[in-house]
Amino acid sequence: MPDDPGNFPEPGFLLRSWPLGRHPAEVSVPSSVGEPRKSYDVPVEVPGRVPPEGPRAEEEARLREIPRVIGQLGKTYIVCETEEGLLLVDQHAAHERVVYEKLRRSMEAHRPEVQQLLMPLELELNHRDAGAVMALQEELASLGIEIEHFGGNTFLVRAVPALLGQVDWETFLSELLPEIRMKGMSQGELLDRALKVMACHGAVRAGKHMSMQEMEGLLEELAAADLPQNCPHGRPVTKMIRYREIEKFFKRIV
Ligand SMILES: [Zn+2]
Repeated sequence: MPDDPGNFPEPGFLLRSWPLGRHPAEVSVPSSVGEPRKSYDVPVEVPGRVPPEGPRAEEEARLREIPRVIGQLGKTYIVCETEEGLLLVDQHAAHERVVYEKLRRSMEAHRPEVQQLLMPLELELNHRDAGAVMALQEELASLGIEIEHFGGNTFLVRAVPALLGQVDWETFLSELLPEIRMKGMSQGELLDRALKVMACHGAVRAGKHMSMQEMEGLLEELAAADLPQNCPHGRPVTKMIRYREIEKFFKRIV
């Protein structure tokens, strides 16, 4: 068959470009309500980003469609086909973004969804973390973590944020505590730091096999996220390799 770069890619056959921007209905920064102590007003992570307006917002909304999943690469990236080309999605970064926004919404509603554990989880903490847990009981409770001193360096976790699911609690706490131990932080800052650690631990790891259904489900949730382009730490979530780039490489076009 002769090369026909003019007809490649077939228009309308492939999915639309994705993701492009924030959901136009959710461009405003959440406002704080209630007493200042409980104001979980988390700053948007991309400073200076101008929310789209008018026709551009409509265009973005139209383009915010879920790409077709081709498969998983190296148990780390979701490979997708879009109208513009090949889209790679970092599964951990994508899930981290989704979990972070869910946790933030739950906290902003002033009611972190808490799951009471039927059997309290016994933790043996090192001396430093044990001291920090004792000093930060109130902060931890505000994050949905109910942890009780049992004697010595032993603690009992009685309730956890429902969205966190299965995490390695010793590692989680050893990463969380230094983040919330700093003095002079606002409640909003404390919450944001805590949410980033929680999201990282609550998100699917790189190196984990995902089924097609799981990948499609994740991309659906990501498409609905406020800031789908970056993980809460600011790392990119997607990498687009455009047809133009691919065609140039294969010398179908100059
Ligand atoms: Zn991250």
